[in-house]
Amino acid sequence: MKTKLGYLEVIAGPMYCGKTEELIRQVKRATIGKKKVQVFKPDIDIRYGRAKKLYSHAGLTFDSEMIKSAKDILTLVTKDTDIVGIDEAQHMGEGLIAVVETLLSQGKQVIVTGLALTFDRQPFTPVPALMAMADKVTKLSAICMLCGSDAVYHKRVGIVKTKANALEPDPAFVAKLDDAVFEARCRACWDA
Ligand SMILES: [Zn+2]
Repeated sequence: MKTKLGYLEVIAGPMYCGKTEELIRQVKRATIGKKKVQVFKPDIDIRYGRAKKLYSHAGLTFDSEMIKSAKDILTLVTKDTDIVGIDEAQHMGEGLIAVVETLLSQGKQVIVTGLALTFDRQPFTPVPALMAMADKVTKLSAICMLCGSDAVYHKRVGIVKTKANALEPDPAFVAKLDDAVFEARCRACWDA
């Protein structure tokens, strides 16, 4: 009997590029195809309230399970699940890499979304490492708020009342994201 191979797709890009939208699109299709899907997101992401759903900026939704740490995924995922979706990977830390490797060794199809870069253009752990080990990387761009070109960055343009280190998965930081204003920016407009 042939071993079921795992498959990893990473959907990465800046804010407002439609990462969650793309994840929801894929898991909805899989559900129609009678695949068993489980989707997880960090419970520090409270932008849309604590409801157990994924929400895209464009208004699509899909049921999800809230997790406190990447390792919770291995506890919650069931044997008969075919596809594991993981949203907002940039808030789950380096521990997510080993979790994804375990899921792949179990033959699961794993779809991860995350910010490739922080708002100050630094690689956002663990997303770049996941992109390197992926079977497929879907790199999305947003639309530059200033000129309308493709934007691979997002920039913090407003005042933040909390600590400014986006590399820290600090719940207080995420909870206060609404105090910050981010804009998608292209390379040419980054310094504008
Ligand atoms: Zn621009």
